[in-house]
Amino acid sequence: MKIFKRLNQFIRRSLGYMDDLPDVNVSMGRLLRYLKPYWVRMVVAIITLLLGSALTLAYPLIVRDVIDAVVESDTQSRFGELIILLLGIFALQSIASAINSYNLGYVGEHLVIDIRRELFDKLIAQSVYFFTERHSGELISRVSNDTEQLRSVLTDSITRLISQTLTLVGSLILMTLINWQLMVFIVIVLPIVGVASVGYGYVMRLISTRRQDAKAASSVVVEESVSSVRIVKSFAREAYQIERFQRADAHLLHEGMSLVRLSTLFNAAMGFIMSLATVGFLWFGGRQVLAGNLEVSELVAFLFYGANVAGGIATYISIYGAFQAAIGATRRIFEIIDAQPTLRDLPNAQPMPPIEGHLLIDHVSFAYQTGVFVLKDIVLEIQAGESLALVGPSGAGKTTLFNLIPRFYDPTEGKIFIDGVDIATVQQISLRAQIGLVPQDTHLFSGRIDENIRFGRLDASKEEIIAAAKAANAHDFIMSFPDGYRTVVGERGVKLSGGQRQRIAIARAILKDPRILLLDEATSSLDSESEAAVQDALNRLMKGRTTIIIAHRLSTIRAVDRIAVLEEGRLVELGTHEALMAKEGLYARLYRMQFEREVVSEEKPQVH
Ligand code: ADP
Repeated sequence: MKIFKRLNQFIRRSLGYMDDLPDVNVSMGRLLRYLKPYWVRMVVAIITLLLGSALTLAYPLIVRDVIDAVVESDTQSRFGELIILLLGIFALQSIASAINSYNLGYVGEHLVIDIRRELFDKLIAQSVYFFTERHSGELISRVSNDTEQLRSVLTDSITRLISQTLTLVGSLILMTLINWQLMVFIVIVLPIVGVASVGYGYVMRLISTRRQDAKAASSVVVEESVSSVRIVKSFAREAYQIERFQRADAHLLHEGMSLVRLSTLFNAAMGFIMSLATVGFLWFGGRQVLAGNLEVSELVAFLFYGANVAGGIATYISIYGAFQAAIGATRRIFEIIDAQPTLRDLPNAQPMPPIEGHLLIDHVSFAYQTGVFVLKDIVLEIQAGESLALVGPSGAGKTTLFNLIPRFYDPTEGKIFIDGVDIATVQQISLRAQIGLVPQDTHLFSGRIDENIRFGRLDASKEEIIAAAKAANAHDFIMSFPDGYRTVVGERGVKLSGGQRQRIAIARAILKDPRILLLDEATSSLDSESEAAVQDALNRLMKGRTTIIIAHRLSTIRAVDRIAVLEEGRLVELGTHEALMAKEGLYARLYRMQFEREVVSEEKPQVH
């Protein structure tokens, strides 16, 4: 019973029910447009394929003639000619197949690159919001796996469909011409074989999916144990993990053995059905020969055509499977290609004029979800060149406010002006080009250190990169690596410490030389030497620029002109450190809680 329920689910799923993918336009016409630039090669591929099919259709007829020639002890010359003709046909078939597969391969490789490019262009154009809503692993899989699936459907499956149809229809017609009674027999038997093999395919896929799931579950145990090996060992839980693994593997074994049993049974049954069909065919065909309605040679030709038809049906089934898989992949791809960035430039948006640095946050409120405001009526004016620290409990809205300035999000209410220009009215790119951002945890791109710094300004010279690194206090540690600026960082390269990565990010921002700077200070504690180096670099970076900084360090708080205190999305206090301390409000409380220990440790040397 259970197996039938599963089977039903499986069929429904493969027919496209029960999926919650958005409704995107995946019409065949739209897919075929991707083939347009390569239509000549596609035509060549299809012609060679059709030629191959035609030859496939011709050769049973020649085999028939060869047998006739042998049976009738025909003149040697005719027999020889036929054998040469057969050789010629096979040679031509090989050539046609080579031309076909080269051209299809060519189109496939180019096509997948085209689609990947379009997909990546659209992906990177999406607003930040798009990425916070999705798993990066899933997006990566769309760019790599789904495009591959689309490629196989657009090249292999379509052409195989055309050629198999020709072979199938041609074989059926030729069979009818040779002997229609035998044909009727085939038409009755074939659907039975077809249905049996479709059912077989479904059941096998169903069970192998279950085995696949069991395998994945067991791999999770391995992966977790390896990645959390310290936790496993520190709790002395090796035996526990082994037991978990064995339990998962017992399940895997169970599913694996079900697969073995069922496939043994089905294979034997399918083999027997096929043999039954062949025996039935020979019995029926033999009787036709005995009755004088059919030549022996025709029976042999018929057998070949029968194999063509059976092969054709099998191909249809596999193409059907490929199409099913590709429909899912295609919809996932087009979901991204069709998605409009949530934040778009206005139709008449102008480039942002060169920024001086005056910033006005004018009655700004913001909600991620409708109605839940995380910023409430913020009014804040910052003069050009002024530095301001954002302080407040976690969840107060500091990061959110920060993200509104480069327009990662638009305010739900209110406006933001830079030098009197409403930032919602200018081109996003031109706005962001003039704003520097040093994030909390700097990610470095895999590649060389100098390339990572150059990300700040792509046309920077080597000297400018070194000057920026020096200003960011990064030059010395970079030079301490044997390869200096050419040191490779990231996955396969040198691992930098948090403080070093920050200084690279600062060098990047210095190179960009923006008028407005947004700094999200790392919460992770740095050793005091690193801290001094980072602070020194930050001071240099902030100089003369309008700076908003989410501050976690005492030294930073002291370096800024004013402090804005956020609490539950409201701006509750604003002023200099001294003024706010004198006020004895939230800031004074936070300051004492957060920084007192630091003050003590900073003052210690003076005590001695
Ligand atoms: P802070 O930086 O001061 O710690 P945030 O600006 O990160 O505060 O968060 C403010 C509030 O907004 C929090 O309640 C947080 O849960 C919520 N929030 C932050 N990012 C999102 C998001 N992408 N979607 C929904 N809510 C969010």
